[in-house]
Amino acid sequence: MSERTGEGSEGGASGESGSRRVEVYPGKEAVVEFDPALTFECVPDCTWCCHHGVLLYDDDFYELAQRASLAETTETFRGEEFVRKEEKDHDHVGEDGEACVFLREDGLCALHAEHDWKPTRCSVFPLEVREVDGEIHVDVRGEAHEHCDGLGVSDRRLVDELDAFLPPLLWELEDPDTERAL
Ligand code: SF4
Ligand code: SF4
Repeated sequence: MSERTGEGSEGGASGESGSRRVEVYPGKEAVVEFDPALTFECVPDCTWCCHHGVLLYDDDFYELAQRASLAETTETFRGEEFVRKEEKDHDHVGEDGEACVFLREDGLCALHAEHDWKPTRCSVFPLEVREVDGEIHVDVRGEAHEHCDGLGVSDRRLVDELDAFLPPLLWELEDPDTERAL
């Protein structure tokens, strides 16, 4: 992964003083809008990002179909498919008592733990992606600063490991924006 700062003309990051253009995969660059000093390590007991429904891109939908019943685990909202959330009888829930259908009592994701796979949106968190003039821009999701326990607790710089958060699929999507929520 290579990294360079953009001050207007360099790397095409026009007008985004201090933004950083990173080649995440060969030929696939992202414009990084967060502080490159920011570090992250998921704190498993937190589970905050699993208290919500999760947007499924088409590829995720087909991948999920190979691992779980779509009828039992997904729902359609405004023409898009989401992993459902539901009431849980364990403590890993949001204020409404609900969490993602795949969040287990031990705080682990059933898809990740049992199938070594999770939806693209789950990989991206605590980052968010938006497409600007055909380019992928990546920032830390606003709510993550408040709720994600994993920010600033390790020496792993987010900017050094963007390939762990941004699956190549994002560069192929017509609408990769990750802000849509259930
Ligand atoms: S699919 Fe797994 S990682 Fe994604 S929100 Fe649900 S429990 Fe969390
Ligand atoms: S909100 Fe952050 S620390 Fe908490 S489970 Fe999600 S990624 Fe991990």
